[in-house]
Amino acid sequence: ITATDLVDESFKRINEVDGKIKAFLTLDEENARNKAKELDGKVEENPLFAIPAGIKDNIITKDLRTTCASKMLEDFNPIYDATVMEKLNDANAITIGKLNMDEFAMGSTSETSAFQTTRNPWDLDAVPGGSSGGSAAAVASGQLPFALGTDTGGSIRQPAAFCGVVGLKPTYGRVSRYGVVAFASSLDQVGPITRTVEDNALVLQNIAGLDPRDSTTVNQDVPDFLSGLTGDIKGLKIAVPKEYLGEGVSEASRQSVLDALKVLEGLGATWEEVSLPHSKYGVSTYYLVTSSEASANLARFDGVRYGYSTPNPKNLMDLYKKSRSEGFGDEVKRRIMLGTYALSAGFYDAYYKKAQQARTLIKQDFDEVFAKYDVVIGPTTPRPAYKVGEVIDDLLTMYAGDLLTIPVNLAGLPGISVPCGFTEGLPLGLQIIGKHFDERTIYRVAYAYE
Ligand code: GLN
Repeated sequence: ITATDLVDESFKRINEVDGKIKAFLTLDEENARNKAKELDGKVEENPLFAIPAGIKDNIITKDLRTTCASKMLEDFNPIYDATVMEKLNDANAITIGKLNMDEFAMGSTSETSAFQTTRNPWDLDAVPGGSSGGSAAAVASGQLPFALGTDTGGSIRQPAAFCGVVGLKPTYGRVSRYGVVAFASSLDQVGPITRTVEDNALVLQNIAGLDPRDSTTVNQDVPDFLSGLTGDIKGLKIAVPKEYLGEGVSEASRQSVLDALKVLEGLGATWEEVSLPHSKYGVSTYYLVTSSEASANLARFDGVRYGYSTPNPKNLMDLYKKSRSEGFGDEVKRRIMLGTYALSAGFYDAYYKKAQQARTLIKQDFDEVFAKYDVVIGPTTPRPAYKVGEVIDDLLTMYAGDLLTIPVNLAGLPGISVPCGFTEGLPLGLQIIGKHFDERTIYRVAYAYE
């Protein structure tokens, strides 16, 4: 097969199914075909050579529209590539297009997109999850072998679980955030969504590493993730937090994890119940920390420097006010207001500072567990995918659905979701959480289980 065959196959599938799935916001067909022609006949060792890729639309791509699924950036054409894009281009992967998401990555269903509602390939009446819903849906429906997503509070793992694919959030600092539109900078990470664990490891291998342009990337060798994929997990010690199988978690999710643990036991691993006592504060801590950071990060969208600008402002104040009122959707505005409030003098100690203290306790819970165990395992989500429209007006339910993914981001840890069964025709995800910078063990366990 040639590069052109691969790209043809991808566009053929997009034409067949994306009218219904609506995963793509922008296709880059001409450039993709030209690049494929250039690569035809060449041979290269890199396994990503000529492989079609889809990119979440908050990762900036040179000369290719990047909207963050927001009216604010509807016509935004970046003048440079994110570091992860440079790395994919160096590996000669071929970018097919940009994928739908929740506006500025805020949401759990991809329904806060200003442009379209992406559907779950397993059930078109269900959401694909979010915020990387377009990425997960495109991979699950066979339009692409891999996509990049971002995960601030579960946005790679939760859509991967809802769509029955594999999604990994790397350790904070493993992958560069340079050129990724910031939501909550102390948590955001880019990661791969794929159909298999091996593919996932291949993509991470290519995008990870120190970047002088992102001071939060860590100067640590990127290990060979693939060498761990042997199927051997004898002697592995698994911790299962009782909070991850308790209140708020459906029987189906609970049972699917217990079944997976039997499989892992059969392979020579052992497991014990542990406690992460502060994880119950995860959701409230997360929404305070991320909204605070978002309120600062999104201040740059002022109607002058980037994107949408209101047509007839009366004066400068009016320009700011109207551009932001007209450019941002409801969920983004809600978070900016919540964050501005939490950071304001007089409330800072009660909210933001408290949240940071709770964050430390959540991280310490994990440190204690990881002193004795190799991985932590639980469900990725408390239940399978929501129906379209089911939670978008019931925000507390939607926020509470992030219960099991959020603590991982607050602690900066890596976590993967791999498919682990079905209920009511919808996939469920098994979450495997590892020590800082130990994605290798996560992949090893996920591969043995898969
Ligand atoms: N659902 C979470 C939120 O709305 C997670 C988002 C994310 O990880 N980008 O904030």
